[in-house]
Amino acid sequence: MRTRRFGTTPDEIPLVGQGTWPIPNREALRRGIDLGMTHIDTAEMYGDGRSEEIVGDAIAPYPRASLFVVSKVLPSNATATGIARACERSLRRLKTDYLDCYLVHWRGDIPLDETMGGLEALVAAGKARSIGVSNFDPWDLREAAASLKSVPIACNQVLYNLGERTPEEHELPWAHETGSAFVAYTPLARPKSARGEKVLAEIAARHKVTPEAVALAFLLRDPFCFVIPKANTVAHVEANALAGDLILDVPETVAIDAAFAARERVGALPMN
Ligand code: NAP
Repeated sequence: MRTRRFGTTPDEIPLVGQGTWPIPNREALRRGIDLGMTHIDTAEMYGDGRSEEIVGDAIAPYPRASLFVVSKVLPSNATATGIARACERSLRRLKTDYLDCYLVHWRGDIPLDETMGGLEALVAAGKARSIGVSNFDPWDLREAAASLKSVPIACNQVLYNLGERTPEEHELPWAHETGSAFVAYTPLARPKSARGEKVLAEIAARHKVTPEAVALAFLLRDPFCFVIPKANTVAHVEANALAGDLILDVPETVAIDAAFAARERVGALPMN
């Protein structure tokens, strides 16, 4: 499994991680960890905490330092004091002392500087090794970054897949400008057209992987991108892990680009 540096952190982490929404499967998660997918993405929202509990069970046998565990605070909890309480609850469910990255799930009604200050305080307290955001467009990102005093934004987690490529023109450039990580969620979704399926199937056959792995590898062509597919099926986990070592050549990338053309964004950053 190839790795790359996770944004502004010192950590080298796998290109392919594991999602856990709404409820993960413990054995599938463990199979993924064994295959090198040690970046686990969860959130207090997922299954009302149940997802974090299952992740806690799944990771228990592994050395903590070998994992990169990410969770997210609900915007409604993201006040200066609420964020610390939410983090403690997540840590308890995950049965760990710290998160590798703690994100605000999306921008809510709490003033952003209060939320970012609360995240920064968790780094100072040793509860989070880094902090990030999710579903932030470049305006939100600039405002969030400006309100931070000493800790940079490590990542922005955004909806990005073959059917939703508008982040390439908006959030991905911000990642390049600031050296932060760009984490693609729901990375497997795609519009099903005869042409698109044929292009993916041909490339997949050439590399002896699945069309899904090809789709993930296309997203990972960007040097700041990570993907967090969720799979409760072990066969899916194994198929997705192969994307971490799959490098597409230029004609393959061009063919996918043409078959799943990017549209221009009208309106807000889409989210799931
Ligand atoms: P996804 O990972 O794109 O797709 C998951 C679906 O694809 C599941 O039904 C899974 O089935 C199936 N699948 C997985 N691998 C496959 C393969 N190789 N071949 C065929 N099907 C496959 O969608 P997602 O769960 O929405 O997104 C991934 C993660 O991103 C989430 O779990 C969550 O951690 C995160 N997320 C974050 C946000 C946010 O607001 N920050 C929003 C949405 C998601 P099985 O489970 O049966 O294997």
